[in-house]
Amino acid sequence: SKEDVKGFFYKNAFVILTVIAVILGIALGFALRPYKMSYRDVQYFSFPGELLMRMLQMLVLPLLVSSLITGMAALDSRASGKMGIRAVVYYTTTTIIAVFIGIVMVLIIHPGKGGKDEFTKQEKIEQVSPADAFLDLIRNMFPPNIVQACTHQFKTTYGKRVVHVKITVNDSIFNLTNGSHEITREEVIPVLGTVNSINALGLVVFSMCFGLIIGSMKEQGQPLKDFFDCLNEAIMRLVAIIMWYAPVGIMFLIAGKIVEMDDITQMGSQLAMYTVTVIIGLLIHAIVVLPTLYFIVTRKNPFVFIGGLLQALITALGTSSSSATLPITFKCLEENNKVDKRVTRFVLPVGATINMDGTALYEALAAIFIAQVNNMDLNFGQILTISITATAASIGAAGIPQAGLVTMVIVLTSVGLPTDDITLIIAVDWFLDRLRTTTNVLGDSIGAGIVEHLSRHELEVKDAEVGNSVVEE
Ligand code: ASP
Repeated sequence: SKEDVKGFFYKNAFVILTVIAVILGIALGFALRPYKMSYRDVQYFSFPGELLMRMLQMLVLPLLVSSLITGMAALDSRASGKMGIRAVVYYTTTTIIAVFIGIVMVLIIHPGKGGKDEFTKQEKIEQVSPADAFLDLIRNMFPPNIVQACTHQFKTTYGKRVVHVKITVNDSIFNLTNGSHEITREEVIPVLGTVNSINALGLVVFSMCFGLIIGSMKEQGQPLKDFFDCLNEAIMRLVAIIMWYAPVGIMFLIAGKIVEMDDITQMGSQLAMYTVTVIIGLLIHAIVVLPTLYFIVTRKNPFVFIGGLLQALITALGTSSSSATLPITFKCLEENNKVDKRVTRFVLPVGATINMDGTALYEALAAIFIAQVNNMDLNFGQILTISITATAASIGAAGIPQAGLVTMVIVLTSVGLPTDDITLIIAVDWFLDRLRTTTNVLGDSIGAGIVEHLSRHELEVKDAEVGNSVVEE
């Protein structure tokens, strides 16, 4: 009936608006392409999109901290321990599967056939030893200065294929000693706007410990618990407002990118094959592996679950940042998919920080592609090394645009591949980045669904014990 139709539109308003935004964005982008706008004009044109990025990023820090603290404080250490183990098992399993798919695809399709003659770009990129990178990953978990951990971690100058891009990395996996480390190069990573990030890994570790302690303090911890509960609720209300703006922002992000992207008909055949290989790998992981896993564990329809996530997935596609998408992922999971808040608050921030299936798949695949164009035969040991370092690189990558490209240096160095050859794949990275970010967000969300299902017993016990203080609304 008419009422039903109205109800349907009302309930799905966000999704419908977002899908319309994508379609309009694509149409607008292609309509404006013939006008060959200058780089500057594209920047002006994409401005509404840039604003969306900034608004979302603005909320990430308080959201991440408050949700982890309240999530941990709501559970006792046994329940959170069990939930944590389940999450870690899920992250590890899916990341290993993703890396495996990436390797199998690139070996079968062999996009790098024929050597490196199509490419000319060369530049120097810093060498990083894998051992130091591993140590730095651990170092990052314990930021000596919690305030500094909240400020920018990656800064890139404004521009497209910029003449000079300086990446100042504080406290990051490249930071082998104190202070900061600068990578300067020409014609590098195309970014829309300045990218600031936080040391999410350090904040995750800190907030989890802090929340656990507050939870164990019983009455004494109550004021802090209430404070962070309230903070979390307030941030989520801000998210609800931003969601109305999100379709506009996404439309301009997509249109702007289409206007400025290179002519794909000019792409070399190896690069085209490489792009196709990555897409196939990501698709297998996102629409076969993850849904199957969800179904095996929960016996529920994975595509209904994914349907509820549509807005988060499109936001990931539009922003190419899983960190900026986090607020929307929260909303989708909690409101559309009704995942228990004690699970999302705990599992999502951790997942967005360390669980990046798409990035892991991509890094392993790209490294082997680079070996292929260099006519280098990799033995089993080297492929194993690539899988391990790709996993580490995906854990270390920040959830910001094209972070995976930066951490790939570790993977390449580990088997002696030329890091300069990262430039071979920069031209298509903006696009592949969007796809792997979407896969990352999907992996985190399905993880939340699976962990919730596996933890239902503990959650029920907890409900019976204390009444459900976190979930009440
Ligand atoms: N952009 C990705 C993300 O935010 C990270 C990457 O570059 O792979 O999830």
